[in-house]
Amino acid sequence: MTAARYDVAIIGAGVVGSAIARACAQYRLSVIVLEAGDDVGAGTSKANTAILHTGFDTKPGTLESRLVRRGYALLSTYGPTVGIPIERIGALLVAWDGEQHARFPEIVANARAAGYGAAREIGRDDLARLEPHLGPGAVGALAVPDEAIICPFTTPLAFATEAVVNGTTLRLGTAVEGRRPGADGTHVLATSRGEVAAEWVVNAAGLTSDTIDRLFGHEDFTVTPRRGELLVYDKLARPLVRHILLPVPTARTKGVLVSPTVFGNVVLGPTAEDVDDKRATGATPAGLAALVAAGRRLVPALVAEEVTAIYVGLRAATEHGDYQLRVHPAERYVCVGGIRSTGLTASMAIAEYVLEGLRDAGLRLVPREDHQAIRMPCLGEQGERPHRSAAAIAADPAYGEIVCHCERATRGEIRDALASPIPALGLDGVRRRTRALLGRCQGFYCGARVAAMVAEAHGTTIADVLGVPPVPR
Ligand SMILES: Cc1cc2nc3c(=O)[nH]c(=O)nc-3n(C[C@H](O)[C@H](O)[C@H](O)COP(=O)(O)OP(=O)(O)OC[C@H]3O[C@@H](n4cnc5c(N)ncnc54)[C@H](O)[C@@H]3O)c2cc1C
Repeated sequence: MTAARYDVAIIGAGVVGSAIARACAQYRLSVIVLEAGDDVGAGTSKANTAILHTGFDTKPGTLESRLVRRGYALLSTYGPTVGIPIERIGALLVAWDGEQHARFPEIVANARAAGYGAAREIGRDDLARLEPHLGPGAVGALAVPDEAIICPFTTPLAFATEAVVNGTTLRLGTAVEGRRPGADGTHVLATSRGEVAAEWVVNAAGLTSDTIDRLFGHEDFTVTPRRGELLVYDKLARPLVRHILLPVPTARTKGVLVSPTVFGNVVLGPTAEDVDDKRATGATPAGLAALVAAGRRLVPALVAEEVTAIYVGLRAATEHGDYQLRVHPAERYVCVGGIRSTGLTASMAIAEYVLEGLRDAGLRLVPREDHQAIRMPCLGEQGERPHRSAAAIAADPAYGEIVCHCERATRGEIRDALASPIPALGLDGVRRRTRALLGRCQGFYCGARVAAMVAEAHGTTIADVLGVPPVPR
């Protein structure tokens, strides 16, 4: 059987691969996205701190620094047009001793060199006024007024939805396992669901981008996963924190921070620990203890609040200090590896960079005249969610019928998520598209109803949706 043939095959539908697919969809190209998992954004992209970074603390002159600055600008503009929740609440980088305080001029100078000029020092009293629940002993802070929080779920889904609505083929549950040259100069990718031929291949495989790179004959880097554990505190904790509270970074990590989320919670994390297993997304007693200790110092009242959830993400760290982004024109192959701790922010800029590389390497980019815009459902606590909209409820009473009471997710939103251009296939998919099951009860009350809706939408059983094995007879 002849393999289906595309102009571009993108491996991986995380936030980076999805952003690249969206950028390709602006042009008359045939594009396929091959994703091993069962949803978009279900790898590292679902488990991060969800900060839209200004890049003030990036290393000037690196590609990462440039793309984070550019990505911040692109996403700040794109987000509101498609409904990605973004709140520009600003960050305070807090010094807890004289040594940390003495580093402020160096951090401000670094920020300027990285292209961010608005960082300014504030004194102890102003800091106490701005953050009344901060722990004792802070000696001052650097205000970074443009740091923002963003929805980590809507962002990749918006990119991928725009791509799919504009003709991109998205193949989920499809792992790329091999590659051979095709007769007509194409790449033939062997996948878990058959062969796919493409003129160009973009490797956006996150943690396994090094393995894919080797399929193309390169050994430029090795990914060593850097585990980050995070605690999500209940919405009752939200009044305790007004800004993103950052520690003074070290050479290895930005450290443990406290931040509000766009869902109205507070997140504490992440840890940073190199591990050798790319599936090591379990929380550890040591990691959680370290987080609680850090939280007790930063905002002591926070650690007395209830924890809603714990999650763990793996950064695709490499032996290099920068992104591993390489266009190989002769091979018609692009590697987008080593996108470790800033990929959510930089995603659109990475996509722009890749598209420029493809064009320079000879791919013809003809703009589509029939490009369709999209609008994502509102997940942000500050936005007008359907249950708060009299007009939405009047037009469709399903938006007035709350299924998940913790997060106020309605039957209408869950129904829509199950029938969207990239439908939720299971409970996690519903969670990331509606916030249902994300709240303090973690689905204890609404789980069965949501599972029944998923089962009905996909013609399966509740037991299948819940992953319950059949009872032996
Ligand atoms: C703890 C933590 C905190 C972070 N905080 C922030 C933050 O605040 N702000 C920020 O901007 N960034 C942050 N990041 C970084 C950001 O989350 C990542 O840079 C980004 O998600 C990387 O996206 P990606 O698409 O490259 O990788 P992924 O999301 O991992 O996507 C790669 C995809 O490729 C698929 N794949 C892999 N191999 C194959 C294959 N063989 N065939 C088909 N598909 C394959 C995977 O299933 C996966 O879905 C953080 C990361 C972590 C871990």
